[in-house]
Amino acid sequence: MPELPEVETIRRELERDILNQRIGRVEVLAAKTIHGKTGDFIKQLTGNSIAGIDRWGKLLIFDLKKGGHKLLIHLKMTGQLVYKDTKKLVFGGHNISESDLVVPNRFTRVVLHFSNHKALYFNDMRRFGFMKLVEEADLGGVVAKSYGVDALSPDFTEKYLQKALKKRAKTTIKAALLDQKHLAGIGNIYADEVCFATGILPNRRVNTLSVSKIKEIYKAIKRVLNLAIKHGGTTFTSARRSQAKPAYALAGFGEAKEAQSQFLAGHFVRSDGAKGNFTQYLKVFDRTGQKCLRCKKGIIQKNRVARRGTHFCQKCQK
Ligand SMILES: [Zn+2]
Repeated sequence: MPELPEVETIRRELERDILNQRIGRVEVLAAKTIHGKTGDFIKQLTGNSIAGIDRWGKLLIFDLKKGGHKLLIHLKMTGQLVYKDTKKLVFGGHNISESDLVVPNRFTRVVLHFSNHKALYFNDMRRFGFMKLVEEADLGGVVAKSYGVDALSPDFTEKYLQKALKKRAKTTIKAALLDQKHLAGIGNIYADEVCFATGILPNRRVNTLSVSKIKEIYKAIKRVLNLAIKHGGTTFTSARRSQAKPAYALAGFGEAKEAQSQFLAGHFVRSDGAKGNFTQYLKVFDRTGQKCLRCKKGIIQKNRVARRGTHFCQKCQK
């Protein structure tokens, strides 16, 4: 699932490309993806344009120029956003395979068509993701109902985390970090990375953590998320397990498609290879069976914690 750094990366990239472009036509291929009435959705968006893009946790908030509405987009488990114009393709969201680069495809659920054959595609294999219009005045209430503070907003303070964790005293730290109602943005990858960074076992109960340990967790959350954004988030490619350097393997794919041009402007890779991918910087996630990078003694294990596949080192995480 795309987490805060991946959603922030696609937000920044879309903001460069789609603002103020007139939406000429709206194509809804799966009504389930639209929360609310499809007819209203099409009516509000057609002829409108996007004036700005915000983010709250993993939720994207498109500011519509006319009509007093915001468009909420949540990618959930398998959602992807693909913007395509004649020169490039901007991609963000769920793990990519080569077939995802061809749009529309069988997982395309909604398309916003701009002029000159430019379009924004919402692909979603499992269809848990959604697009939803809310009236501007209702936005605060809708967001507050489902999400706590955003993990990178100024409102996320150490004091806030101490207080939020007190309310989750009996749960595991992993479950507490994943709970979007307390803190919005952290998912499976970054919860494991934060636990590793602070030397805490993910299944440790929150009420066994000292105030100073929670302070460390607070700092690690900000550090890990910011570093991931710097590297364009974590997106595994289908080539990952068979290639030593997946990002560059896909860069090669991009070059093959369109030599010298930036065919792939997506966040995980650029065709010039200038931009990497956070998968290379993961310290514990997806490293099952490999030697621990910190203590060099333990082997990274994977177990279910908070119903999610969870990675940790038994030797140096307590
Ligand atoms: Zn270790």
